[in-house]
Parts: sequence; structure tokens; C-alpha cells
Amino acid sequence: MKDLDAARLAQMVQPLLDWFSANARDLPWRADREPYHVWLSEIMLQQTRVEAVRGYYARFLDAAPDVFALAALPEDKLLKLWEGLGYYNRARNLQACARILAENGGAFPETKDALKKLPGIGDYTAGAIASICFEQPAAAVDGNVLRVCARVLDDDTPVDTPAYRAALDAALSAVYPSGRCGAFTQSLMELGATVCVPNGAPKCGACPISDLCLARKNGTASSLPKKQPKRGRRAENRTVFLLRCGNRVAVEKRPETGLLAGLWQLPNEPGLYDEAQVGAWAAARPLGDVRLRSVRDGRHIFTHITWTMRCYALACAQAPDCFTWVTPDELRGEVSLPTAFRQFLTLDEW
Ligand code: SF4
Repeated sequence: MKDLDAARLAQMVQPLLDWFSANARDLPWRADREPYHVWLSEIMLQQTRVEAVRGYYARFLDAAPDVFALAALPEDKLLKLWEGLGYYNRARNLQACARILAENGGAFPETKDALKKLPGIGDYTAGAIASICFEQPAAAVDGNVLRVCARVLDDDTPVDTPAYRAALDAALSAVYPSGRCGAFTQSLMELGATVCVPNGAPKCGACPISDLCLARKNGTASSLPKKQPKRGRRAENRTVFLLRCGNRVAVEKRPETGLLAGLWQLPNEPGLYDEAQVGAWAAARPLGDVRLRSVRDGRHIFTHITWTMRCYALACAQAPDCFTWVTPDELRGEVSLPTAFRQFLTLDEW
């Protein structure tokens, strides 16, 4: 790995602060520096777009306005609030963390090292909270920051390694401006999100650090940052059953460990069944007379797995208690059904 050019990183600070003062987007979690707000928004923003997070953030704060309320939230309610955001362990870790904080009076620790001891808080989130809420010189290196810095330095080292992240974290933390740490963290994130964008050409003409940027000078910006070769996602096929009896649909809980742990699901089996196999599956359960209503194919991409799915909607005469049978209202309001399955709920008209 090349040495990171600390002097060039230091030169970014003032132009970014000036630019951020004039160009920061008005986002709900920027209304104050309350650690609970910053923490919640940062966890939600991992893997999710700003526009999608706005609604979730507002609903979550309504239901759990502080760490004490979050610590006391029933799990079903918590997962329902998270439904559609994916990566449900983030929600569980939020609550585990809130419970620890609540037991200790409710205050967040102020340093990056202490924050990282809490569940679900890694280097990035700890840096964001420590710098934004407590003005600590602690970098928050996420994809946006990696991209901006790799371009400014014209560095073609793969950025998605722990060693590169740690080196950039240390180099950036060393140039943090006293008293403006939170603004500097946010200015880097903001530049990456709005100007030095990931897909397509960066908007170098609107960039406050274009004079410093070696990738712009060398014409390499669009090819940076470099990443390690990706390992392919595992492909799995699943047959999903949308079982409807009267006004209710069958759901069941997933196992407490592994993918989508502990969430609800539509009953499903490995493989892609044909109609004869579906008939045999239904006949092995006390569903009474079963009528095939429709078939639909779907797909869902997880981090490491792609599910190719075929969903059979079946009208059943009986509702055996090997499943939990829920109404549309319960599905809308209480049962957290992951997007992988929820996509099939439009199959039937209720
Ligand atoms: S000049 Fe262009 S490539 Fe360089 S940091 Fe600015 S937006 Fe990114």
C-alpha cells in the first residue's frame, strides 16, 4: 500500500469546511447534535439511501424518542419499524446497545474507543458520533470518504480492506480541525454523496477541492476507487407458498440464527417446484381442499446470496396451526415480513 499523502489530506480541510457551510443539505438528523439522533441515522443510512431513510427515521423517533424508549420497545414492534430496511441485525443491535446505555443512565460515551465497545457500533459509526456529537478528532471512514480520498490522492490501492481503512482513518484523524471536527466529518460525507459521486462521472466542476485532486488532474477519477475482485453471490432457488384461508395468510417464524434470523416468512422450501410437487407438498399438510390461484416468479438479492423464487398462491379450505394465520391488517401493522417475501403479497386481492 502506498503512503497516504498527509499534507494533501490536510489541505482539503478548509475548502471542505467552507463548502459545507454553504451547501449542507437540510436533513432531519442534522437538526441537532443529539447522539441518539446521529447514531440512529447513521445506522439506518448504512446500505440505505437518504431519501428512503427520512420516513423510517421519523417513524422510529415517534415510537422510540430516546434510548430508554428504544430499550423498552417490544421486539415485534422494533422489527416492524425496521421492515424494508433489511439487515435486521442492525435493529437488534440498536436495541442491545440502547439497553446497555439505559442501564448506565442513558448517556453515550464520548470517545471512539469507548463507543466501539457497544453492540453494532464499528469504526465508522463510532467516528461519526465522536466527531459530530462530541467534537473529537475521530474520522468516520465510509464508502463516500474512501472514494473521495482515493480520488484526491489518485490512489489505486484497493480501498475495501481493513488495512486501507485503518490507514486512512489514522491519516484523516491526524488532520481533523479542532472545534470543527463534526463539520469536517459531515463535509467529507456530503461531498461523496452529492459531488464526488460513485456511479457515473463525479461533478468535478462543482467540487471545492478540485485544485487539490490528483485524479482530476490525471483523468483517473471515474476508475477510482479500486476494489478487490468480488466473490460471486451464492445462488439459491426457493419455492414460496402464499397460503390463504379466507381472509388470512399463513406465516411462520424463521430460525433464531442465520439469514433473516427470527423474522416472519411465508412458508417456503429449497428448489423450484413444479405444480405436481406443490400438490404433494400441500397434500402432506392438513390444508383441506387446495386450489392453485396463481404463480409468480421473483428474485431477492442479499449480500452473499441471491434467491430465485417461485411463489404459488394457494387457496386453502383449512388453516392448520402448524402455521400462524394473519390478516392483512396484522401484516401491515404488526408482522415484520422481509421484502424477499413481501413482494408476493400483491398476488391476491384481499
Ligand atoms: S475533483 Fe472530482 S474526483 Fe476529485 S474529489 Fe472533486 S469531485 Fe471527486
